[in-house]
Order: sequence, then C-alpha cells, then structure tokens
Amino acid sequence: MKPALAVASECVPLVKTGGLADVTGALPGAMAGNGWALRTLLPGYRPVMAVAANAGAQPVLDLPGLAAGDARVLALRYAGLDLLVLNAPHLYDRDGSPYLDAGGNDWSDNDLRFAALAQTAARIAGGALEGWVPHLLHLHDWQAALVPEYLAAEGTRVPVVLTIHNIAFHGLTAPDRIGALGLDPARFIPDGYEYYGHVSALKAGLQGADRITTVSPTYARELTTPEFGMGLDGVIRARAGVLTGILNGIDTRVWNPRKDPHVRRYQTPRGKAANRKRLRAEFGLPAAPGPLAVVISRLTTQKGLDLLLDALPAFTAAGGQLALLGSGDRALENAWLQAARDSDAVAVRIGYDETLAHRMFAGGDAVLVPSRFEPCGLTQLYALRYGAVPVVARTGGLADTVIHANDAALRAGTATGLVHAPDDAEALATALTDLCLLHAQSERWSLIQANGMKHPVGWEVSSAQYAALYDAMMVS
Ligand code: ADP
Repeated sequence: MKPALAVASECVPLVKTGGLADVTGALPGAMAGNGWALRTLLPGYRPVMAVAANAGAQPVLDLPGLAAGDARVLALRYAGLDLLVLNAPHLYDRDGSPYLDAGGNDWSDNDLRFAALAQTAARIAGGALEGWVPHLLHLHDWQAALVPEYLAAEGTRVPVVLTIHNIAFHGLTAPDRIGALGLDPARFIPDGYEYYGHVSALKAGLQGADRITTVSPTYARELTTPEFGMGLDGVIRARAGVLTGILNGIDTRVWNPRKDPHVRRYQTPRGKAANRKRLRAEFGLPAAPGPLAVVISRLTTQKGLDLLLDALPAFTAAGGQLALLGSGDRALENAWLQAARDSDAVAVRIGYDETLAHRMFAGGDAVLVPSRFEPCGLTQLYALRYGAVPVVARTGGLADTVIHANDAALRAGTATGLVHAPDDAEALATALTDLCLLHAQSERWSLIQANGMKHPVGWEVSSAQYAALYDAMMVS
C-alpha cells in the first residue's frame, strides 16, 4: 500500500458541517481497495480531542511554538480511519463550530488556526514523523490550501492534489498577517497567494498544487466561468489543464432501502407504497393519485427553493403534492410555511432531522433539487437509491448524475429522472407538470424508478478515479 496524507478541517464521523466531511470520511476506506493507505490530519477541536482521548491516541510529534503556542500530533485509529490529530489547545480547544464562535461569527484567528494545520502537514511531508513519510498529499478546501507554500519554503518536494468542495470560501486574510502565518513575503504577488491585496489560502493551493479536482465534471467546467468561479475563475482557467471533476459517492450501507432501519424496507419500487402512505400521514397530506414530491434541503438561494415556490401552483394544479423538510434563511422558512397554509397539497417541516429524511426518500415519489449551482449534491443520489425520481436543475453534479427522461432515453430504457434549466421558475414548472404526466404512465414510471435504483452511487467508480489520479501523479 502506498501511503498518502489527507489534510482536512472536517471528517465523518468526528466532525461535520457539510459534504466535505462525508468525502474525507469515506475516501480512505474506498482507497484502501485501490492500493492507497490514507492517513488523515485533522485539527484537534474539542469533540475530536474527546474521541482521541477515548480511543487511546498516542503522541507522535511535538511541535513547540506552532502558531505561537505548543502543539503536538497524536495518532489514533477510529471508525476504520487512520488519523493524525493536531492537538493545539490555543487554536482549537473552544466551544462553537469548527469555523464559528458561539455567536455565529468566524473565529478571528481562523487564518492562524488553519495555517497551523497546513504547516504541520508540510512538516510531516518533510519527514517529521518517525517511520512514516507520505508519497502524496491530498488537500481539501482552503483550510489545507497553504500547504504548497510551506512545502516550497522548506524545499520539500511531494506530489500535491487539492480538491475544491466549495469555491465560495477563499480563506482570505490581511497582508499584515503574513509574518504571523510564517509565509514567504516574496510570494505575496498575483502569481503567488496575493488576491486583490489580500492573502488567499485557496489561491495559494490553486497555484501550487500539481493537480486540482472538484466534485463533479460539470462543476469543473463551470468553475472556469465568471458566473461560478466566484472571483477565482481566472486562476482556475490558467490551471484548467490540471483540473478534473470526480463525483462524490454516498455511503451505500447507511443509505440502503433493503436494510434501512428507519423505513419499511423494500427491494423494488412497489415497496415504496407503505412508506408513502406513512409519509402522507406524518405530514398531514390527504391520499391522492398524483405524485408526492419531497424536498430535503438547506433553505438558501443556492438551492433555488424560491423558484420552487413560484412553480408550486402549476405542480399542485397538475395533481402533485409536496412535503418539504429544511431550515436556513428566515425569509424562505416563512415563505414556505405560508405556502403550506395556502395549499392542502403542501406540507412543511422547518428543522434538521436525519431520520425523517430517510423516511422522506423512502416515501417520496420524486425528490426536487432545483439548485442554482451544486458542486456535486448528495440528495439526488439518495433519491436514486431509494427509487424516488430526481427532478434536478442542469448544473454541477446534478447534471452529471441524472439522465433526463426525454423520448430517446425513455425508448432506450436509460432515463433516471427529469432535468430542467437552472435558475428558471418556468422551466421548473414545466418539469413538474411533466413529472405528473409521467407518473400517470405507470409502466414508464416504474422503469425510471428501477433504473435509478440500479444506478451506481457508491464510491467504487470515484475512488478508482482518485487512485488513477494519484498513480498518475507518482510517475509525472
Ligand atoms: P449541501 O452540502 O450543499 O447542503 P448536499 O446535497 O451535498 O448539499 O448535502 C446535503 C445533505 O444534507 C443531504 O444528505 C441532505 O439530505 C441533508 N439535509 C439537508 N437539509 C436537511 C434537513 N433539514 N434534515 C435532514 N437532512 C438534511
């Protein structure tokens, strides 16, 4: 097995705020089957240190004076993961989330907190750990993206791949922090880590990584455009030759309608009927012949759920019902609660509820994901697995994972869902009325469901692609 070091700010099951954690938690297991042994370096946040203490973590490296404090790296195995935890109480031993204080504001020293993580990774790559040197580094998002700067400063040469999970966060900080972060001031230039007068950690990584990946092929193309690149499209265009998109997978053991403890288990689409009945009852929706669509989502403009409000009358007029679970923007929450008061065919739960989400995928006839942009998206993958027909916007990973039920795909028997133009309430309304028409054609409908349930959504394909990339980096 070839050793590699993953560097990330989140990892399931220890610490999660988004899809990044799912990827860093699942990839090591999947890569083991492809000849790569991943070790993951994580910040020692309070909950992570609690796990480390219980799991008998051992100190493997002392780092006196790291980011103006004493730190140490601990090694442990937990939940099938081989972990290195950066124990630096002055940086991580706090209440609050990985990035925000209890008041919901960014920690004012986030630059230093993640620079320390990157410095530690660079030291490990340089041979600081006794008996273990990675052949390759896999960096995730801006929190790990300063690593190439520190490697260059120390003269360490090791292949580096950077994965972009969310281009919206750049890790910006002021130039007067360059000294505190231990960066080379000579690299504060447009070809280095300077970004319009600021230090940008993500830009440093985009410039310095040997290869760049993001979480779907379509999103990789979209990132080169001003519309999606969030100010870094120029840098990404300059590096387009080393950029690839590799889809995320889902954990098919947790998301499996045959074994899911939260639902009436089923093997074929017909088994959804009992779940649908229960879901209607749970949401107070009447029995109806039309499709029951569900939405499970953060309520933000990214997710396009304001467009869905506009398209809703057309859907309910065509016989559709909608159950929504979500939380987020207050204005959107209120608008959805109002929509539920206005229509007997719409029901809304505000909140985050993992087990209800399982019941909704099992009971829903369709899952709606009308996002304006979506790097990969997981919801549509769960939908496929559970025989709920995904109705998605043609963007990012949504475009890459759902096969639109046009005539040709229906005739070829390959369709798995409906795909509509993004950021367009009219196109969404048309897709929803098409959904109702398709639902009424039971043979076609069952075929689409069955196709979806067969579609590969685990990590097998994607981990092989990561392994091919890692292997290619070793020889180039
Ligand atoms: P993002 O990471 O942008 O929120 P993804 O589709 O990649 O979007 O992942 C979102 C995940 O969170 C999915 O697994 C989805 O089912 C889940 N989720 C979102 N909102 C809720 C909620 N209110 N309750 C339960 N699960 C939710």
